[in-house]
Amino acid sequence: MRYLLISDLHGNYEALEAVLLDSRGQYDHIVCCGDLVGYGPDPNRVVEWARANLLAVIRGNHDRACCGLDDLEWFNPIAQEASRWTISRLTEENLGWLRSLPRGPIRVNGFSVAHGSPLDEDEYIASAADAANVFDYLESGVTFFGHTHLQGGFVRIDGHREIITKPRRDEYAVRLRLDPDAVYLINPGSIGQPRDADPRAAYALYDSDTRVLALHRVPYDCEAVRRKIVAEGLPPALGQRLGFGR
Ligand code: ZN
Repeated sequence: MRYLLISDLHGNYEALEAVLLDSRGQYDHIVCCGDLVGYGPDPNRVVEWARANLLAVIRGNHDRACCGLDDLEWFNPIAQEASRWTISRLTEENLGWLRSLPRGPIRVNGFSVAHGSPLDEDEYIASAADAANVFDYLESGVTFFGHTHLQGGFVRIDGHREIITKPRRDEYAVRLRLDPDAVYLINPGSIGQPRDADPRAAYALYDSDTRVLALHRVPYDCEAVRRKIVAEGLPPALGQRLGFGR
């Protein structure tokens, strides 16, 4: 089975559209590592698309905050403001759907899906040291996660660890075949707010039969989203950062 793996959409519909167009015809199912909303100007459109199209999805910390499951005290002022705006805009149906999302990790056809760490949905796996702390506890050989908005991954193979790097700025994708004896933590990257110095929307394709993984980047109209953010009265910094991938 071929999967499109996505994460951290954050209400950015233009970036989602670009990913769907770019990956069209290359997958059978779509699986999401959470954070559908928060920051971006199109929370309802993204949630409605998710409700209709995702095979499996777990909640992210912004999904919790934007449907009233969490208070906002852990967020910085800009994230708080964006969360309050998102709560005020989401329809009752979409709020209810967000509240019903399961906590990660979940299992999907032989791999796992988490938002932060498989051990704690709010923990960041941002470095090889972070990954080293969770490898021993993993149930699946392959775990997809999000939360950091950093595309790439970590492998433990024969007792040593390696890093899976994202496509360079002049590359469109990197491909590798996953070793059945190794343990993988893979971040498909963020669609709606990449923070790895590459503003292009990120996604992954994974074929569970051939075990081929591809990490992709696709450009989209960041400027159109920035204008929408300003027009909606969201903090302008949320639009500016899209152009830098920060
Ligand atoms: Zn996020």
